[in-house]
Amino acid sequence: MAKKVKATAARTAVYPGSFDPITLGHVDIIERVARTFDRVIVLIARSPDKQSLFTPEIRKTLIEKSLAHLDNVEVDIHEGLTTDYANRVGALVLVRGLRAVVDFEYEVSMANMNAKLAPDIETLLVFARPEYYFLSSRSVKEVARHQGELSGLVPSPVQDALLKIFKKGKKK
Ligand code: ADP
Repeated sequence: MAKKVKATAARTAVYPGSFDPITLGHVDIIERVARTFDRVIVLIARSPDKQSLFTPEIRKTLIEKSLAHLDNVEVDIHEGLTTDYANRVGALVLVRGLRAVVDFEYEVSMANMNAKLAPDIETLLVFARPEYYFLSSRSVKEVARHQGELSGLVPSPVQDALLKIFKKGKKK
């Protein structure tokens, strides 16, 4: 017989990632998931060995400013296994976004590893909208570094933060 799961627990979803920085592709996934779940936690992974542009704390502020219009979304920072965090907050769903075929292999292996670590937690893969298919935090940083146009790629608080960093670095 199927194991009974508390209905309330299924209503929290955790969306883990680096978000260095958050893009409009991430925002779109969060808006869509926030319509389905009671509570969505955007979880910034603190990974000491990953080179990042923004500190986790700045990333958190940028995400909060960019998602101020969503009242059931929270932002948190976590170092360690995402499944441990999900268990702690009673979330039964991990959300990930899927863009190109190249995302697939990585996402599948991570979903399987998480399922092994926490069999009760399900990974929900949400397809990126076509207009955000090409968009990644990495490409955004590249555009910003070369003073390219950022509107349509990232929310305005992120645009401002990127402009500040890369204006400073611009050679006169
Ligand atoms: P990670 O470093 O863990 O891959 P990211 O911050 O790059 O974290 O991405 C977090 C999640 O959001 C991943 O599942 C990624 O595939 C997804 N994602 C990234 N960019 C987009 C986008 N443009 N549209 C939809 N999903 C995206």
